[in-house]
Amino acid sequence: MSAQSTDKKPSLFPSLCQTRCPRCRRGNMFVDPNPYHLKRFMKMYDQCPVCGQHFDLEVGFYYGTGYVSYALTIAVSVATLVIWALTIGLSVHDTRVLYWLVFNGVVLVVLQPYLMRLARTLWLFFFVGYDPRWRENLRKTRNVSITELKTTGKAFSALFFILEGKSYIYF
Ligand SMILES: [Zn+2]
Repeated sequence: MSAQSTDKKPSLFPSLCQTRCPRCRRGNMFVDPNPYHLKRFMKMYDQCPVCGQHFDLEVGFYYGTGYVSYALTIAVSVATLVIWALTIGLSVHDTRVLYWLVFNGVVLVVLQPYLMRLARTLWLFFFVGYDPRWRENLRKTRNVSITELKTTGKAFSALFFILEGKSYIYF
């Protein structure tokens, strides 16, 4: 029973929101679970504490996070605009839209530490697929490809042997 529950694939959306490792969806990507401890809120583990997935795939990997961050900012702004329009209402004849701008600004500032973490998590989710047993699977794939190489190598040697034999006959 417990083995089954640990083998169960965690859902994508909650794992993303909790900034978990995309490979196993269990390990935390960030050292401090609280994004509002501002001194070290962006400190990440080098590797996933659960499955060992590396989080920094290459030098400057997280520069692309800027695009995700931008998209998240737009998404939050659209969401607050819709909520504002449905509850308080919007009109060109009064200043309610200006109040929304201020409100949205405050929401974005307050959410910023969490959004920055979320942007990094999303960015890594684009490149790393779910595979909690990735180490074993990688080993298996390697072994298969080595066997394939050996077989192909043997086939080539046989072919060359035949060709050489033929060349001896011709020359
Ligand atoms: Zn992991």
